[in-house]
Amino acid sequence: MKITDVEVMCLRIPTRGEECVWGEDAVLVRITTDTGIVGFGEADTSPMVVRSFIETPNSNLACFGLRELLIGENPLEIQRLWDKMYESSSYAGRRGAGIHAISAVDIALWDIASQHYQQPIHMLLGGKYRDRIKAYGTFIPADKPEDNKALARELLDKGFTGMKFGGGLFGNDFDHDLNVIKAVREEVGDDVTLMVDLVSRWRTFGNALSICRKLEKYNLEWVEEPIPSDDLDGYSRLAAAATQKVAGGEILSTRYEFKDFIERGRPDIVQPDITRCGGISEMARIRDIADLNGVQLVPHGFSTGILLAATVQFLAASKHGTLIEYSQSDSPLFTDLVGDLVPLEDGYVPVSDTIGLGSQLNWDLINQYRIDY
Ligand SMILES: [Mg+2]
Repeated sequence: MKITDVEVMCLRIPTRGEECVWGEDAVLVRITTDTGIVGFGEADTSPMVVRSFIETPNSNLACFGLRELLIGENPLEIQRLWDKMYESSSYAGRRGAGIHAISAVDIALWDIASQHYQQPIHMLLGGKYRDRIKAYGTFIPADKPEDNKALARELLDKGFTGMKFGGGLFGNDFDHDLNVIKAVREEVGDDVTLMVDLVSRWRTFGNALSICRKLEKYNLEWVEEPIPSDDLDGYSRLAAAATQKVAGGEILSTRYEFKDFIERGRPDIVQPDITRCGGISEMARIRDIADLNGVQLVPHGFSTGILLAATVQFLAASKHGTLIEYSQSDSPLFTDLVGDLVPLEDGYVPVSDTIGLGSQLNWDLINQYRIDY
């Protein structure tokens, strides 16, 4: 089997405006083979940068575009192709956007392998540990603290027993944040697991620790990205001193960044995104580093149904893969891009035994939102 084409599709919903809200864009990669098998992957990042990284022509030995590296190759040689892409794009790649592009390709290669061998991806990864995975829901809090009661109630009604909020105004002003947390805790009661996402807004170790202490009585399961994940020293001091678990890492890529983050930052929970960290292959290596260090891996995931399906397959085949983030986005790129979106059932997602990622893509929607700039 040989790869005959690698295509990149950039999607954007114009009505969502310029501001970054939820699921306003997506970038998909389609890999075609000479046997007729087609694989899909995605990256949750800047669509046009991924497109450039894949389509750019070779400029020198360390500046190949991924498309040129992949055409004519056997798509089943996933590990060798990962290394080939990494090494031959190393001037512009190695971290960030270059790895985001490799992530999308890697996911598409696993999709192809599953179809070729006629086995679910979790079988190719070593077999599934469970038939369903507990999910938690994430929402952006409303500006008025009281209005968050209704948002939390909606998630409860859907069956979630865990929820996380962050973004919007949250994280900028302690009194405001406290009122939001109080309102949500009051609404959901003591048995629901609550997490907060600070998107680095607590800035420093000292500030974050003092806020963590004031929030102790609200029994938060974890505080996510309280400070920038580049501040490894701050992370390790906070994780040691706070009573809440400290989580982070969604913007990091490759086993190398995660090795530093896990071994020096000492978080309690690490959150690689399968479409940014290097794909299914690299996520498995990051999981092994997390396991070796007694750190829990709870992937970040907030894009299309392709990301969701890939994350479910990966977690099913991971010994400690017991918790998944389930997007609450109302963007059609989440709700309607994939015909067979992984459902939420009583607060859990089922582990599908379908072949490949099962991505029956909605081509009307793709054609509606596709942009070529
Ligand atoms: Mg986050």
